[in-house]
Amino acid sequence: MGLIVQKFGGSSVANAERVNHVAEIITNTYKAGNQVVVVLSAQGDTTDDLIEKANEINPKASKREMDMLLSTGEQISVALMAMAIGRMGFPVVSLTGWQVGMETSSHYGNARIKKVSGTRIQEELDRNKIVLVCGFQGVNKYDDVTTLGRGGSDTTAVALAVALKADLCQIYTDVDGVYTADPRVIKNARKLDEITHDEMLELATLGAKVLHNRSVEMAKTYNMNLEVLSSFTGKPGTIVKEDAKLEKTHVSGVACDKNIARIALVGLQDKPGIAYRIFSMLAKEKINVDIILQSIGRGNTKDISFTVEKDNLAEAARILEEKKHLIGFDHMNTTDTISKVSIVGAGMANNSGVAALMFEALYEANINIHMISTSEIKVSVLIDEEDSEKAMQVVHDKFFNIMQ
Ligand code: ADP
Ligand code: ASP
Ligand code: MG
Repeated sequence: MGLIVQKFGGSSVANAERVNHVAEIITNTYKAGNQVVVVLSAQGDTTDDLIEKANEINPKASKREMDMLLSTGEQISVALMAMAIGRMGFPVVSLTGWQVGMETSSHYGNARIKKVSGTRIQEELDRNKIVLVCGFQGVNKYDDVTTLGRGGSDTTAVALAVALKADLCQIYTDVDGVYTADPRVIKNARKLDEITHDEMLELATLGAKVLHNRSVEMAKTYNMNLEVLSSFTGKPGTIVKEDAKLEKTHVSGVACDKNIARIALVGLQDKPGIAYRIFSMLAKEKINVDIILQSIGRGNTKDISFTVEKDNLAEAARILEEKKHLIGFDHMNTTDTISKVSIVGAGMANNSGVAALMFEALYEANINIHMISTSEIKVSVLIDEEDSEKAMQVVHDKFFNIMQ
């Protein structure tokens, strides 16, 4: 018995049947004597549909109004769920982000949670109610509605679990837990029983959208264990925690991110200060740069290539072209038909053979690597987008088939 935060994603509450099924899970938890706080996402594809509706009317709508629109999806979910639970005869209340005091930065569309008051939730729990909270939304210092970025309901759940000092935070979704790769792409992916916060954070950041990366970051900071499990099967899920046991393969998972683009500046002068100039200009415009590669000098020139998010490509290219006279380069190449495939594992830190195995798998499949980046617990390679699935499969097989 204790305080349990449960989050259900879009597919878990997609229609009336699913809502009633989830209402059973929630009320069973309540009947077992727990206090229950539930975070819900918008039903099914509602958020995508709302974005489409906005685009039909104004593709350049302000981010403030987009947040006003997108936040409605989660309100539908909590209201419907409250009706389902009410009909079953349990005390329940639905609340918006504003009502629970979910204070965020003012950054519309990608706001960060700053503070959670939680007073209202506590009052409702004291009245023995099941409390349903809209995921993905908050309120900023102007009293405007904000949203936390796609997939942000996971972060709402973790923030509430931390603020309320919950005993358990369960993230219910449409797969049985965290797998060694996206189980919809890699059919022989295996479910992990446990994974460390660090590994999960890398996987989520590198493209495994099973958890919003900020939710993992927050869980790590406040040492909150998460359980990722299916609302469909009722099987035990994956525990995300600080001291998870490591995989024997040294690698816990493979992830793929297609949302990237590459910019190459060719013919830069080979002298101090050039990289500083380029990347400070981009940083000033809040454009995140990921993998950076600099060639060795040829004569007096060198090249620098780097990756940005696809959405930022046009803006980054515009800035660099505008400042060409200040930077001094011969020409710029850009491409957005690339993707990043990564392996993640806390066990690889002291094992240089791990990267070599990954490169071997790609070589055997005749997949060319454009760039490489490594850290203590990950290796990422940049490849042609069309090779993504094949690359994931061969890299996955290299690490996980040898176990069988
Ligand atoms: P929800 O709506 O419940 O938030 P999401 O669609 O955001 O669900 O996340 C669940 C999806 O994440 C799964 O359906 C799966 O395709 C995808 N996914 C990507 N990588 C992984 C992984 N390593 N393990 C499990 N699922 C993954
Ligand atoms: N409904 C939002 C989205 O589709 C938030 C979430 O599902 O976590 O991104
Ligand atoms: Mg999600």
